[in-house]
Amino acid sequence: MDDCIFCKIINNEIPSTTIYEDDDIKAFFDISQVTPGHTLIVPKKHVKNIFEYDEDLAQRVFKKVPMIARAIKESNPDIIGMNICLNNGEIAYQSVMHSHIHLVPRYSDKDGFSMKWADNTGVASDEQMQERADAIKKNLED
Ligand code: 5GP
Ligand code: ZN
Repeated sequence: MDDCIFCKIINNEIPSTTIYEDDDIKAFFDISQVTPGHTLIVPKKHVKNIFEYDEDLAQRVFKKVPMIARAIKESNPDIIGMNICLNNGEIAYQSVMHSHIHLVPRYSDKDGFSMKWADNTGVASDEQMQERADAIKKNLED
């Protein structure tokens, strides 16, 4: 992918502060450092988003998340939690179209990171919930 900024980082054409690398992934600091230590885990294979992972790639990438998350947490006693985000599609705040997992260490409720969740408990009827579930279930792959 010639125009992909993360492919260029993977190929060392653009510098990055890298904390871990193997045959399958590169983990480097996000330039924006939402909080100190904010890291991206990026598959070396150019896949656009979660919908393009096959099971083998998913295993090779996601199995590394806990190890890297722990290393970040252990690096600083002020880290008391971590948000892990995988944005898929512009509507979901994906701006770089090479899949990446954000690890955002959390220090306090005023550390610069926030999420807003609507609460729609009870809005959908039981029948509507079952219809939604059935629509998903019929698309599950073995
Ligand atoms: P997204 O919005 O797609 O979930 O996240 C893309 C992330 O890539 C952003 O948080 C942005 O700061 C980061 N980013 C964009 N360009 C670069 C770059 O050249 N180097 C690094 N290290 N991070 C980048
Ligand atoms: Zn790429």
